[in-house]
Amino acid sequence: MTEHVDVVVIGGGQAGLAVGYYLRRTPLSWVVLDAQDGPGGAWRHGWHGLRLFSPARFSSLPGWVMPGGTDDYPSRAEVLDYLTAYERRYELPVRRLVRVDAVHREGNGFRVVADAGTWRTRAVVSATGTWSRPFIPDVPGRDDFQGVQLHSARYATPDAFAGKRVLVVGGGNSGAQILAEVSRVADATWVTLAEPAFLPDWVDGRYLFGQATAAYRALQEGREPPPRVELGDIVMVPPVREARDRGALGSVRPFVRMTAGGVVWPDGREEPVDAVIWCTGFRPALDHLRPLDVTDAEGQIAVEGTRSVREPRLWLVGYGNWTGFASATLIGVGRTARATVAEIAAELA
Ligand code: FAD
Repeated sequence: MTEHVDVVVIGGGQAGLAVGYYLRRTPLSWVVLDAQDGPGGAWRHGWHGLRLFSPARFSSLPGWVMPGGTDDYPSRAEVLDYLTAYERRYELPVRRLVRVDAVHREGNGFRVVADAGTWRTRAVVSATGTWSRPFIPDVPGRDDFQGVQLHSARYATPDAFAGKRVLVVGGGNSGAQILAEVSRVADATWVTLAEPAFLPDWVDGRYLFGQATAAYRALQEGREPPPRVELGDIVMVPPVREARDRGALGSVRPFVRMTAGGVVWPDGREEPVDAVIWCTGFRPALDHLRPLDVTDAEGQIAVEGTRSVREPRLWLVGYGNWTGFASATLIGVGRTARATVAEIAAELA
């Protein structure tokens, strides 16, 4: 089966939906291809207790504010409901269970080859996120360890760790939130590169977004950005606060290697461990773009705005700040999606 459309969007998570919201206002023909069997992108796989950093009012895609108001931090389930309803509300043409294997240049456009067919198109927007490429550091002895190893990408609930000796590795928000719940049922130790930097209780995603927006606007207008106040990294969402009040947020510096039964600490002490949960981040999922030869040694693609420098009919939306300020967030991706679609419409006119 081969279909022809003006634009193929690869990935139907929040970034793909935001691009779709603006594409439907253009006369272009387009489709969103998504590998999963239901809406929500990465949120389908988040752990069940995951909380947003900002209240619903400040965690919304373009056009429609997430229900939930300004006080509570929405749960993963609420975000999934919102993204499902968003897709339906705007009748976005998302084709599911379609995994794109490769994008090839063809004539003035591309041939997008997926497991469920081929699409010929004039422009491609890649919005495949990072969740399918979890990163685990190359710690000596990691393959020898006989206990359980799990990345946060596959962690769902703390139940399986009840009564176990568990290391939670990683000093970001995933590490803090997972430690908070695992430490309620297990003998949990938090392993971080440096002392974790907790934000004051009154700071959440709203404040961080506002601060970053002020810097962004200043740069756009050719002004000196306001001095950045470094307040910390970890947002004190309610489960993390509860863990702090229990005294469960202590941390230690990393072990130097792993053994069959545990880990060895810098002072040479060996400690038995049942499980290690790696909360050590993600890399962009860009394998499908390999035939275009646009990816650099760090696994990123040089962009101007969201447009590939080496392939001017390829745009990248979501992923992280390198594809636009705050574009990996629900509230930030709308801005890059709008600019992306404006460029595509101008290019294909
Ligand atoms: P994804 O949601 O990963 O969607 C990409 C889609 O593309 C997926 O459905 C995937 O299956 C599909 N795909 C991938 N490869 C292919 C392929 N080759 N062919 C077809 N389909 C493909 N964000 C916020 O805005 N607010 C928050 O408060 C917030 N809190 C967070 C808290 C934690 C602890 C964590 C870990 C993340 C948080 N995030 C938050 C970030 C957010 O979860 C992600 O940044 C977001 O899901 C990325 O959206 P995306 O659409 O770019 O990618």
